Amino acid sequence: MSGATRQQPEAAAAVPHVIIVGAGFAGLAAVAGLKKADVRVTIIDRNLYSTFQPLLYQVATGGLNPGDVAYPVGGFTTPRRARYLRGDLAGLDTQARRARLADGRELGYDYLIVASGVSAAYFGVQGAAENTFGLYTRADAIVLRDHIMAGFERLSAGNGDGTSELAITVVGGGATGVELAGTLGELRKVVLRGTFPDVDPSRVHIRLVEMAPALLMPFNERLREYTRRQLVARGVDIRLNTTIREVRPSAVILDDEEVLRSDLTVWAAGVAAPEAVAKWGLPQGKSGRILVGEDLRVQGQDRIFAIGDIALNPDKPSPQLAQPAIQEGKRAAASVARLIAGQPTVPFSYHDKGTMATIGRRAAVVELPRGVRFTGTLAWLAWLALHLTFLLGGRNRVSTLINLSWRYIDWGHGGNVIVGDDPAAGEDLTGGGAKSETGSGAESGAKSEAGSGAESSSEPVGAGQELRPRVVLSAR
Ligand SMILES: Cc1cc2nc3c(=O)[nH]c(=O)nc-3n(C[C@H](O)[C@H](O)[C@H](O)COP(=O)(O)OP(=O)(O)OC[C@H]3O[C@@H](n4cnc5c(N)ncnc54)[C@H](O)[C@@H]3O)c2cc1C
Repeated sequence: MSGATRQQPEAAAAVPHVIIVGAGFAGLAAVAGLKKADVRVTIIDRNLYSTFQPLLYQVATGGLNPGDVAYPVGGFTTPRRARYLRGDLAGLDTQARRARLADGRELGYDYLIVASGVSAAYFGVQGAAENTFGLYTRADAIVLRDHIMAGFERLSAGNGDGTSELAITVVGGGATGVELAGTLGELRKVVLRGTFPDVDPSRVHIRLVEMAPALLMPFNERLREYTRRQLVARGVDIRLNTTIREVRPSAVILDDEEVLRSDLTVWAAGVAAPEAVAKWGLPQGKSGRILVGEDLRVQGQDRIFAIGDIALNPDKPSPQLAQPAIQEGKRAAASVARLIAGQPTVPFSYHDKGTMATIGRRAAVVELPRGVRFTGTLAWLAWLALHLTFLLGGRNRVSTLINLSWRYIDWGHGGNVIVGDDPAAGEDLTGGGAKSETGSGAESGAKSEAGSGAESSSEPVGAGQELRPRVVLSAR
């Protein structure tokens, strides 16, 4: 039967039901891959929208609106004849093939694809879960932006004595840490002049802490050194070979007991599965990721797949990036269709298309297969074009293009930040109240989920580098 005649859920008990959990890169690729299959597809996500994580740092630094990086899941699924259900997966009965949502609803499935992503890993660092900001969700980015802008505002002569300072620490010298620190450096040096003309940039300190001996570890040495130089040029204080032992509301404590003032500490040091995943009863490996075999089926399960950041094939781990997530989503969809047709699954193999990371205006690094590497304006334009291409929705592309053009073309003329509200007037900038808003979902927030999950992980204690080079995304 052709996909065009697929029946509606209620009337189609005989048609296999595929549930996909998570509407990120992996889950949406699976939806697209099943468009023509003779199945009913339900995709469940706790949010109404899919988040484009690669541009969250632009939201956090006031370059983009939150809506620019969010796309309604229903807008994606309806033309692909899938059903979107807002919900939070809470448990599974793999014998009865039923998924239970947090609000008590239950759904039966014939095939299940888990694509629920990951969240922050704190590696057991004391105070990190409570006293740092994350950058995994749209809500995280908004909270961080509001705290950054409130910090600047309090420095301005009207609100302070003109002598106070603002120290921001970014933990983790992977791509997220580098792009955030670089953009914060530019904010301080150039962009904020227009918005907060009375704030002397020398009163703002941007620090990037990394436990490894270099930034962007997965990249070629020349590109790493270029990155370091570009960050230094943006006034970022880079601390390599530096391990954080504890995070307090207004300071980070290093392994050697040095205390560094830090009014805002952003955690970009690594990822792990949220703690709630343990309740699903699926086998978990390093950092709590769900263990899969070579065809992406969960170990010990013949009808459950796990894909994207949450999945781990211990024999052939894929990088936790958009491109592997997309490729895995397509492959899992194809495998479901093959199983329904009585055919065997096909093993997954990641096709590496290259990696890129951006540092700031006209500064990025690109590393393609066969040793092709470039930096500077060309790399930055490639990064920009790629991200615009991969954003979901024409409106988002246009608004992002306009907002980023305004930020980078109107360079130095000021006034081009999207400011937020002061989230905690009169409170400590890193006050705990703001933290609880920053979860990866509607439930209770990623802070608590990810925190304890990571604490039980076997990763070394310290400010680990997020091993997350930027992959060249391909058309979805
Ligand atoms: C700040 C940042 C910048 C990044 N930049 C880049 C980049 O430039 N290039 C690149 O290639 N990669 C980048 N990445 C990594 C990339 O975003 C991830 O690898 C990719 O999003 C993984 O896709 P996924 O589908 O597995 O998970 P996600 O995209 O995280 O999607 C998971 C979805 O599952 C939902 N969900 C979670 N739990 C539940 C539940 N219990 N019930 C229902 N729904 C649930 C979530 O709401 C979410 O929508 C970046 C990541 C971050 C955090």
